[in-house]
Amino acid sequence: MGKVYITGAGPGDPELLTVKAFKIIQNADVILYDRLINEEILNYRKKEAILIYVGKEDGKHTIPQQEINQFLYDYALQYDVVVRLKGGDPFVFGRGGEECLFLAERGIEFEVIPGVTSAISVPAYTGIPVTHRGIASSFRVVTGHEAPDKENSSIDWESMKANETIVFLMGLHNIEKIMDKLIQIGKNPKTPVAVIHAGTTENQLVIVGEIDNISKLAKDVPTPALIVIGDVVKLRDKINWFDAKLLKC
Ligand code: SAH
Repeated sequence: MGKVYITGAGPGDPELLTVKAFKIIQNADVILYDRLINEEILNYRKKEAILIYVGKEDGKHTIPQQEINQFLYDYALQYDVVVRLKGGDPFVFGRGGEECLFLAERGIEFEVIPGVTSAISVPAYTGIPVTHRGIASSFRVVTGHEAPDKENSSIDWESMKANETIVFLMGLHNIEKIMDKLIQIGKNPKTPVAVIHAGTTENQLVIVGEIDNISKLAKDVPTPALIVIGDVVKLRDKINWFDAKLLKC
């Protein structure tokens, strides 16, 4: 019986792959990968490795999660090294925990290889530190997949009044509703917001605005994109290093 490696592939820049993930990709017999993986990373595999695309878009699986779980189980019975490769970190909205539970319940050995999450690294590549002394002492990462008007939401909207950095993943489709909700709970409508597409890659695109105008400014931004809200966004004016680097290339 083989082992399954629930592995983070990082946010896009292939060099943000961990050494551990790099080594396991080189050894993999089977790789099941998601849409947000930079395909360059797959080139590290052995020639004979089996590649299986189980892409999902903004949290919506084209292949149901239950089927992916079953694939992992079935391949683990047949091959030694099964790699489940996910964008960013497997436990940050990656359903990695569900896959671990499924395997654990069936006695399949597994290991988790954390990855560089987009929630922190994508803002970093646009010159936005998620915490900064005197500006933000905490940050939270929230799913934007759930509409803010959903009843019995498990998201604590009221507490977002606090002066901290908020990062929404999977929130582009709901951006207008999210911004309306933040105004409704009493957040300052002039709080800076950045919407970042394809962060850490050469296609990175950043739109900056405020809570009360960002949904209009960012209406044509494609996915994948994340939303960063908070005064730390202003630091970008001075810290933005990646765009400068791209211009030099
Ligand atoms: N496990 C992943 C997140 C999965 S949810 C992680 O840790 O990064 C998928 C969401 O992540 C996307 O909808 C988008 O909001 C965000 N995302 C992932 N990669 C991104 C990138 N390179 N640029 C901008 N947003 C990204």
